[in-house]
Amino acid sequence: MKIFVTGAAGFIGSHLVEDLLSDGHHVTGLDDLSTGRLSNLRVVAGHPGFRLVQGSILDEALVSELTAGCQQVYHLAAAVGSFVIRDRTLESLRTNIHGTENVVDAAARCGAVLLAASTSEIYGKNMKPGLCEDDDRIIGSPLKSRWSYAEAKAIDESLIDAYSRERGLKAVIIRFFNTVGPRQTGRYGMVIPRFTRQALAGESLTVYGTGDQIRCFCHVYDVIPALTKLIAAPAAYGLAVNLGSNEPISINDLAERIIAATDSASVVTHTPYLDAYGSGYEDMQRRIPDCTLARTLCGFTPRRTLDDIVAAVVNDQEASRSAVVAS
Ligand code: UDP
Repeated sequence: MKIFVTGAAGFIGSHLVEDLLSDGHHVTGLDDLSTGRLSNLRVVAGHPGFRLVQGSILDEALVSELTAGCQQVYHLAAAVGSFVIRDRTLESLRTNIHGTENVVDAAARCGAVLLAASTSEIYGKNMKPGLCEDDDRIIGSPLKSRWSYAEAKAIDESLIDAYSRERGLKAVIIRFFNTVGPRQTGRYGMVIPRFTRQALAGESLTVYGTGDQIRCFCHVYDVIPALTKLIAAPAAYGLAVNLGSNEPISINDLAERIIAATDSASVVTHTPYLDAYGSGYEDMQRRIPDCTLARTLCGFTPRRTLDDIVAAVVNDQEASRSAVVAS
């Protein structure tokens, strides 16, 4: 198939591109390299089935041109990371709303099947252990910048739903719950690569808030096969589907786990949210998915444990450090 991937140089996008190429597809990737990196695509550079275009999903004509003739579109490009949303709120809103509208409209016009990335942030402060896709959203004030990401992604979901019902778009929405693995950088806020870098450097691990907040981390290698199955599953069209693990851990315990895994002499410090993120930040204290729908639709069952994830991120960062030293 001819497949278009937005955000192809990003953390999830680059793993997806590799998978699609190994299945023999022809892939065109689009990335503005704002947070994505060319080095993420090193493995596929020069592959005859792959072409990367550097540009923005805000460029409507370019998105239209690249979508034409494709049977599938994976829309992964977005402004992501709590620091990006905090520091570039306006640009993030525009990218995540208008950019997505361009991709959704192009896919609808071309008759391509769309898989669009959404987020567990959609559920906001809903603490239900085992969040289901039709659970309520509990979101703080729109004037708190933290929520602007969830607001934008919620608009995207409504847009896709309307295109599906009114324009015949075939689309599945994925709500990612803390996907982690090799190539994810901590620069934009993500906690596991940040703690790992700190532990390897012998620095303090900076837990924000009390550290009692709970997350479930899912290995990107468990997520990628689910994406390719769900985009090919007509039963999934018109739905939003959670993808995440069922292994909850507090951020305090995560910090200790990473210190142990790296045999580090680092200690843990606690930083108030205000100092970490500035004003306009509220955290969600517990975020645990119910992935029954994904299991029913495509047999999704994450196999890699949190220990596997931490080991993979440690290996990845050690390999990058050795590459820098050697060059
Ligand atoms: N966090 C932390 N220290 C860091 C980065 C993040 O304690 O250096 C916390 C963050 O406040 C949140 C959790 O770790 O409670 C997960 O953060 P991340 O940005 O990875 O994902 P989120 O679940 O917030 O989307």
